[in-house]
Amino acid sequence: MNEALLERLSPAHSHWHIIKADLAKRKAGYRGELQLDYHLKFISKNKNIFILHDLRLEIDDRHFQIDTLLLTPQVFIIIEVKHIAGTYTLDSRFDQAIRKVEDKEEAFSHPVTQVERQKKQLVRWFINRKLPSIPISTLVVMTNKSTIIDTTSPNEKYHNVIRVENVEGWILSVLALHRKESIPAKQLKKISSQLVKKHTAPFAFPKDIYGVTPGEIMSGVKCSQCQHLPMVRRYAHWECTECGGKSKDGHIAALNDYALLISDRINNKQVRKFLHLESRKIAYKILQSMQLNSEGMTKNKTYHLTPHTFQQTSHQSNSSTAMPSR
Ligand SMILES: [Zn+2]
Repeated sequence: MNEALLERLSPAHSHWHIIKADLAKRKAGYRGELQLDYHLKFISKNKNIFILHDLRLEIDDRHFQIDTLLLTPQVFIIIEVKHIAGTYTLDSRFDQAIRKVEDKEEAFSHPVTQVERQKKQLVRWFINRKLPSIPISTLVVMTNKSTIIDTTSPNEKYHNVIRVENVEGWILSVLALHRKESIPAKQLKKISSQLVKKHTAPFAFPKDIYGVTPGEIMSGVKCSQCQHLPMVRRYAHWECTECGGKSKDGHIAALNDYALLISDRINNKQVRKFLHLESRKIAYKILQSMQLNSEGMTKNKTYHLTPHTFQQTSHQSNSSTAMPSR
């Protein structure tokens, strides 16, 4: 959403830098998750182990989120990923973490407290559903190789804050401690599916997060070659007035942006406005060709758009879809 927004917003917009900074944070988080994935490869071939990413569950009308949840028949492991540059100092006295980059300090919540809270929430989630109890371990993984991990006092020790290259050894030692099977493999598969089913992706439009109104978002089909907006419709294709580039289906990406940035519902009039089309008939044909679900009849017909956040790899960082690794 942030990526699509930056491409359709004037750099002079008062929120431009905030939106860009948020995108950078999400990308860093995503890079961290990829790092962790690489080090979890050793375990991902095991048929009885499930790995869920970016799981977001509801409990008592509130949501909690887990970066990575490892489900084994013996033990669950909650993993919090931190991709942070500079020095990361843990301070148990004030229950905080301090990040220092080039003399600039910033405070965060203590990651161990954070994972312990997630553990309590997950336990409650299981109790509410009368699911079997199972031991849960928590782990904080620092995925940025250049991070210096420190504590405010030498007596402060954390067995569950580790660097990403030590993940394999840490997990193997936890598995060695928990040999007793708490949940049979078959039931574990069901529980994994249940967790994925109950996952809710957080989604809000730029208007709700940044106060960016639809009127501030540039409309039109974007040229994939030179990024010019808008392309013009000629016969059965789109043409760029800047570079002469052509596209048959540029409207698909444009309507995907519409779904991410403005609304997941659109009617013929709104399509014409957003794609810069004059003909109601052409707008109708385009909508028909996309085989969208719709409601209402003729002039009141509204089409349902589903944003495809997985279209490009760079968009995956924005996704919060809980997906099993296999
Ligand atoms: Zn162009």
